[in-house]
Amino acid sequence: MEIKVNQGILSSNERTALENKKVFDENGLFVINIMGSPGAGKTTVLEKTIDILVNSVKLGVIEGDIYTSKDAQRIEKHGVPVKQINTGGACHLDAGMVSKVLTDFRLSEIELLVIENVGNLVCPVEFNLGEDIKIAVLSITEGDDKPMKYPLIFRESRAVILNKVDLIDFTDVDMNSLRTDIKRINPKIEIFEVSARTGQGINEWSRWLLEKVKDKNVKNAVN
Ligand code: MG
Ligand code: ZN
Repeated sequence: MEIKVNQGILSSNERTALENKKVFDENGLFVINIMGSPGAGKTTVLEKTIDILVNSVKLGVIEGDIYTSKDAQRIEKHGVPVKQINTGGACHLDAGMVSKVLTDFRLSEIELLVIENVGNLVCPVEFNLGEDIKIAVLSITEGDDKPMKYPLIFRESRAVILNKVDLIDFTDVDMNSLRTDIKRINPKIEIFEVSARTGQGINEWSRWLLEKVKDKNVKNAVN
């Protein structure tokens, strides 16, 4: 399929994102961009997901953080290749930052590349990285008003992980209204209710993700 794009109207980030996408596709990589507020549980969800998928799929991880490498150190313990991006103040990753660390991986040996974005519910979604899908992580403790207040991340994401559902009794969150609002913003979005702490729902989410990785590999093999 030929995609005609007017280079003139693309931002430089979109151009770099397309270049990244080309590299990902050529190497048969499925790439997800995980976004969510600080403390939503992105890294913990990822750690639990890695433990389930590590024997089924070859993983690589890029950790975005403003200053530290704390999350990368956590991921490293799970035995997967991980590279840190420190944005040095910027509150989101951009395609150029991702492009720079790609040479640090043996891309042909990775099937699923996970990019954990900087903790921020607002602007990471505005910067494509070349990923196949975006994933939102929302802790239910953030409140059921968040989808309507920050709709873009839910509109652009293929799935949302509602984390910390084990804490439901300690909150006033209305799960029905939370789910309804998310579906109103994006009727096609998959919703997973998860507790990364207890492991609830992690299997279901991981199986769904694995299906997506395999789907892309099958398509690449056919082409
Ligand atoms: Mg994190
Ligand atoms: Zn930002």
